Amino acid sequence: MICELCGEFSDRRYKVRIEGSVLEVCESCTSLGVKMPESGFKSKSLPKLEEAETDFLVEGFGQAIKRARDQRQWHQRELAQKLNEKESIISKIETGKFEPDAKLARKLEKLLGIKLIE
Ligand SMILES: [Zn+2]
Repeated sequence: MICELCGEFSDRRYKVRIEGSVLEVCESCTSLGVKMPESGFKSKSLPKLEEAETDFLVEGFGQAIKRARDQRQWHQRELAQKLNEKESIISKIETGKFEPDAKLARKLEKLLGIKLIE
């Protein structure tokens, strides 16, 4: 392979991070960047993705639900019945103690006409 930094031919390649980009370089150029282990590269980016998938609710979703429910003058029990959920769940969601899953969040969005999913 040809080193992306100095252009020299090298039979071993090294991945290094230099100023935010990842380059394949020869051994003598590895000192110019931060060496990246090949296996560690992929596994490092995975936890971030998982985190992003569960972190879909808008900030203050509980208050938004409560406000929209109050506007319709529904009791927590009424909202719970419409959603086919327990009243205690609604209470926990409104106080932020419980995060609805994507399915329930979408039902709430539809029913209350508010935006809960980012
Ligand atoms: Zn080089």
